[in-house]
Amino acid sequence: MCGIVGFIGKEQAAPIILEGLAKLEYRGYDSAGVAVYDGESIKVEKAMGRLKVLEEMTHYGSTLPGTIGIGHTRWATHGQPSNINAHPHLNAKGTISVVHNGIIENYLQLKNRLIRHGYEFQSETDTEVVAQMLDYYYSGDPLEDIVKVLHRIEGSFSLGIIFSEQPDAIYAVRKSSPLIVGKSAEGSFIASDVPAILKYTRKVYYLGENEVAKLTCDDVTFYDADGEQIEKEPVEIKWDAEAAEKGGYEHFMLKEIYEEPKAVRETLMPRIKDDRIEIEELKLTDEEIRKIPKIHIVACGSAYHTGVTAKYVFEGMGRIPVDVDIASEFRYRDPLLSEEDLVIVISQSGETADTLEALRIAHKKGCKVLGIINVLGSSISREADMVMYTWAGPEISVATTKAYSAQLAALYLLALKFSYVKGAISDQELAAYIDDLKRLPDQIELLLGGKERIQRFANRYVAAKDVFFIGRGIDYAISLEGSLKLKEISYVHSEAYAAGELKHGTISLIEEGTLVAAVLTQKDLYQKTMSNIVEVKARGAFVLAVTNEGNTEIEKNADYVIYIPETNKYFANSLAIIPLQLFGYYVSVGKGYDVDHPRNLAKSVTVE
Ligand code: GLU
Repeated sequence: MCGIVGFIGKEQAAPIILEGLAKLEYRGYDSAGVAVYDGESIKVEKAMGRLKVLEEMTHYGSTLPGTIGIGHTRWATHGQPSNINAHPHLNAKGTISVVHNGIIENYLQLKNRLIRHGYEFQSETDTEVVAQMLDYYYSGDPLEDIVKVLHRIEGSFSLGIIFSEQPDAIYAVRKSSPLIVGKSAEGSFIASDVPAILKYTRKVYYLGENEVAKLTCDDVTFYDADGEQIEKEPVEIKWDAEAAEKGGYEHFMLKEIYEEPKAVRETLMPRIKDDRIEIEELKLTDEEIRKIPKIHIVACGSAYHTGVTAKYVFEGMGRIPVDVDIASEFRYRDPLLSEEDLVIVISQSGETADTLEALRIAHKKGCKVLGIINVLGSSISREADMVMYTWAGPEISVATTKAYSAQLAALYLLALKFSYVKGAISDQELAAYIDDLKRLPDQIELLLGGKERIQRFANRYVAAKDVFFIGRGIDYAISLEGSLKLKEISYVHSEAYAAGELKHGTISLIEEGTLVAAVLTQKDLYQKTMSNIVEVKARGAFVLAVTNEGNTEIEKNADYVIYIPETNKYFANSLAIIPLQLFGYYVSVGKGYDVDHPRNLAKSVTVE
């Protein structure tokens, strides 16, 4: 998910590569490495941690002479962050070197096959499979060999490859992971993103799905998945360097909102196999799942809100009792846990101090802990008994969006798995839920297509002082997150209320023009929340409603309506949250705030 840079040309490769990797640092990473062909063999240097360590170790590249090379910043997905797992990876002879972004989903199957053929693996990564497979198929014609490998690997990948026996070229491949090719008078480049090479060229080629590129010092040639040559036109990059870092988006937050379909898809799809949910990381037998009397979900902030949603899903779908706790509360209230209970902790960074402490308390009480985490190798992922990773990729903006959506997706999978194993849902029901899950990424995409309407609405409400979010059931959980998104980046005071609670106090705050955002995705609660809309309208509120397509009669009571596509009641959060994230975003933009770095907040809360 992180950074690739490659160079072949008239200059020394390593300094250009290191400089390029530095421009990709914003993507997040845990280790870095470079491989350079020095005229005789491929030399590799790798280092854990910041790129600075690698830069200093190689004297900014000068200890790696040579004019062809590939480099990488790794965001670990398979295998802990470590020197051995850092890229580039090599075949045993050291003649083929590979850098990879993404995930090779069928790597285990391929790895086992190669092991049967006598191959030995150095790292725990999925990536090494590619280097070893290229060795296995090696014919002296790299293009032919790459095409063979391309037909056998599944998942998302962009690859940069060099061969010491054909040292006049770099090869690149791309599927569902970004990779660009650049050309300048100095030579040819590959990179995960434009900023890495913007200093040298504004002329870039975008590699298409399953396409291969061959780069030489003077030329770039493109091939389709069968190795047939194809023509490609370069694109002239007109953005400045800062905009380029954000892929042309104004802020990381917007970029990450646009990455939500991918984050949800990648979290879901590897765990859905032939209409069954298979969560490899869940080291619990069906028998053990059946015996779990209660689940405790513990988290902070937005992750806590995914837990609130999950309570409704586990309890409604599977009749499985769930307690949800804010980690900073849980850790000091001597929680009642029985050894058979399962504790689920959720954290994007895997470093959230209160959540980590909650995990330790659960362990002391003899419970098994499952972590839902985005950062591999993080403290929680090391201490939890089981880790289910969200494949959202690095999230840069402080306000979470894509990691939140990926956490929801992971929780749905768990709820479905548990409900099915416990016999609470039938084969047919499971199949129908899975169909709904598979549709979610496209439905999110559809909602993103309507962003201008939300932008217009947000512009109108930029000056709002107090905003109330209301909903019932899962709609209440959605309101909690909608409210948090707004307040954390736009500094507008907002509160989320269970709609039925309004009349127990908060309704006294509603006055002429107060903005109330009402969420109505739950059919059985629709009329109830509608009554609350009528109540606040009667007191002068301006009502924004988020509801399911088809509920057009709501327009009689609400002032502005955003419709979300149809899904089942349990998964509605994944859709309804999109307009609310966009609303928070555009209010912040409208106020001219630093959206990605809101005041007083940090991305990873490692202190209590
Ligand atoms: N899946 C690979 C790994 O874990 C690549 C990760 C990345 O994109 O940086 O090493």
